[in-house]
Amino acid sequence: MSRLIVVSNRVAPITEGEPTAGGLAAGVMDALRQKGGRWFGWSGNVVPDMVTPPLPVVEQRSGPISLYTTDLNQRDYDAYYKGFSNATLWPVFHYQTDLAHFDWAEFEGYRRVNRHFADSLQALMAPQDVVWVHDYHLLCLAEALRAQGARNRIGLFLHIPFPAPAVLMNIPAHAELMAAMCHYDLIGFQTESDRLAFADYVLREMGGEALPGGVLAVGGHAIRTGVYPIGVHVDMLRQEAAAAADSAQVQALRASLGGRALIMSVDRLDYSKGLPQRFTAYERFLADNPGWHRKVEFTQIAVPSRSDVHAYQEIRRELEGEAGRINGRFAELDWTPLRYLNRSFARRDLMPLYAAAQVGLVTPLRDGMNLVAKEFVAAQDPADPGVLVLSRFAGAARELDAALLINPHDEAGTAAALERALSMRLEERRERHAAMMAVMRHNSLERWRDRFECDLRNPASLEHGAS
Ligand code: UDP
Repeated sequence: MSRLIVVSNRVAPITEGEPTAGGLAAGVMDALRQKGGRWFGWSGNVVPDMVTPPLPVVEQRSGPISLYTTDLNQRDYDAYYKGFSNATLWPVFHYQTDLAHFDWAEFEGYRRVNRHFADSLQALMAPQDVVWVHDYHLLCLAEALRAQGARNRIGLFLHIPFPAPAVLMNIPAHAELMAAMCHYDLIGFQTESDRLAFADYVLREMGGEALPGGVLAVGGHAIRTGVYPIGVHVDMLRQEAAAAADSAQVQALRASLGGRALIMSVDRLDYSKGLPQRFTAYERFLADNPGWHRKVEFTQIAVPSRSDVHAYQEIRRELEGEAGRINGRFAELDWTPLRYLNRSFARRDLMPLYAAAQVGLVTPLRDGMNLVAKEFVAAQDPADPGVLVLSRFAGAARELDAALLINPHDEAGTAAALERALSMRLEERRERHAAMMAVMRHNSLERWRDRFECDLRNPASLEHGAS
């Protein structure tokens, strides 16, 4: 039997069946729970440098899922995770090259950890298994597995954007990175523009050739590329929202709002999420619309993230200052226009909060998909739904074009969209919500997994190694 082996940087710890925050964990966990399989990745633990690889692999079983985790030593964590993954790939792939730094030693550390992962995987894989690798931490994993002689079918799904070649080439190791990626049999992207950016590089910089069906021929190898927008369980999310509609938490929120309209945002505290721009757009909305003073509140939940990377410490400081400044400018004794929460919530507890909001404000500068946007829509009461204001630079905007789409760099435009959302008539809200639900039902989480797995199991027209 050919099993599915999932590999990602982190394996979500299973506590009460809930994965940790983050789009990837939520998607993979839900998908694996249905059919079972093996999932390998980093435990999240960092051990001292005197512990040298190969580090032991720990197995944990949860129903049909077997989880396998390994630690990283400090040196590998610094180079692979904190360095090349999160201070080079993440900013460049999100088009924020000004925040990126590059160090060949970190890139070497990244490749080294990809090789360690490949070493550990050897023991978990049989020749007929298919391997589904997730995200930007493991772009070099197929190359490492091939170097060990693996001939399995290996696919990569990239959860984050893929940048245009001119942006990618800011990374001095772009050629090495792309050569490594070409060892995958299938590469999946969130949107067609991400896929086209990848194809553009392969065709123009590597002398590749585009074949029908999204297949790219390069160096005698065929890579199949496809678009697989990640989805959410719409019905489950709505049930969670409805079941907790009168929970103590929601009652406390309602009581504190005192009938005011609620604008709600939920993000990891990340510079790609456009939080400073969002805050100033809200400030502009308040300045332009005195009639809304005391009648609206904006709640921003910002979950601390990657707090040992410098750029994340900076953005956190900046936002604390901005929240204080905006409240200082507009607050009254009985009205706090902006509530800024630096904490996380269990995913399930967010759903009734989304449902209690009149507006979901999701304004990343770039985002692979943005699951919060989809969750917000799914959580709404169809009879009286809230309005989604969404950045056109989120992958989700390709599907959710019935949201009010904004450019997060356009402060006045975002402020105007907020006003429009808060004033929107019920009929238009229902129409927009129904249109978005129809798309989300079609592009479900099951469909995401099934289409990727099916394409991974079915080879492209050129077999690996053939010319
Ligand atoms: N999330 C959560 N608790 C929080 C904040 C966020 O469980 O306090 C979840 C959220 O519901 C969503 C995911 O984290 O499923 C964030 O995914 P998204 O694609 O929006 O952004 P990412 O963090 O992956 O960049």
